[in-house]
Amino acid sequence: MKIKRLIIITSLFITTHSAMAQTQAIAHRGFWKTDGSAENSLTSLEKADSIGCYGSEFDVWLAEDNELVVNHDGSYKGKNMEKTPSSELIKLKLKNGENLPTLKQYLKKGKKLKTRFILELKAHSTPERETEAIQKIISMVRGMGLTNRMEYISFSLHAIKEFIRLAPEGTPIFYLEGGLSPQQLKEIGATGADYHLNVFKKNPDWIAKCHELGLKVNVWTVNKSEDFQWLINNEVDYITTNEPALLQEILKNK
Ligand code: MG
Repeated sequence: MKIKRLIIITSLFITTHSAMAQTQAIAHRGFWKTDGSAENSLTSLEKADSIGCYGSEFDVWLAEDNELVVNHDGSYKGKNMEKTPSSELIKLKLKNGENLPTLKQYLKKGKKLKTRFILELKAHSTPERETEAIQKIISMVRGMGLTNRMEYISFSLHAIKEFIRLAPEGTPIFYLEGGLSPQQLKEIGATGADYHLNVFKKNPDWIAKCHELGLKVNVWTVNKSEDFQWLINNEVDYITTNEPALLQEILKNK
């Protein structure tokens, strides 16, 4: 009897809680616009966590030797991510003096923190390399016991479909490119849309449509107060921003 009551109370709480769910902040390439930080650095992940961001976004490449590294551009300091072995890439310095991190180092740093890993797999030169990267990512994440902390995003539709096929059931997976309608996202089995602000400005009904279909909505890369406000009023689930401290302030004072 007691257990039954507990289940009812718990499910009531979950229902109320999700009905009240509010917009949350994701730091784009980590929280890098702050002292001692740099885009996609270990520090940016720590800083995003320190201001209580829901998640910290970062970019992943499969290097020439099939090791995974964290960096945004396909080329950095003259080195092509896919055509250079990781042993050379990790010698490159970021703007804050840190070395370019491997995915393993990045996950290890974040394991002690609370913020969620919003892992963007960059579009690679072939679908096969993307599949190889995804297999490695999922196996590394599983090995490190981080499966429940991960969310996967990509501009590559092939990568999205492979994450859906290979990641454990329930792993959040969002498409970035903006070309699929909410209905199409639902059909491929994505968790939701992670689209540019302009896509939602052009199709403002897509936010409600996603929610009607049980999909989540994330919006990138939003940096202005008035845009934050418009998205908060429209009850998007997540905002990805280069100004996570400002967004956190706005969300706190809501
Ligand atoms: Mg990214």
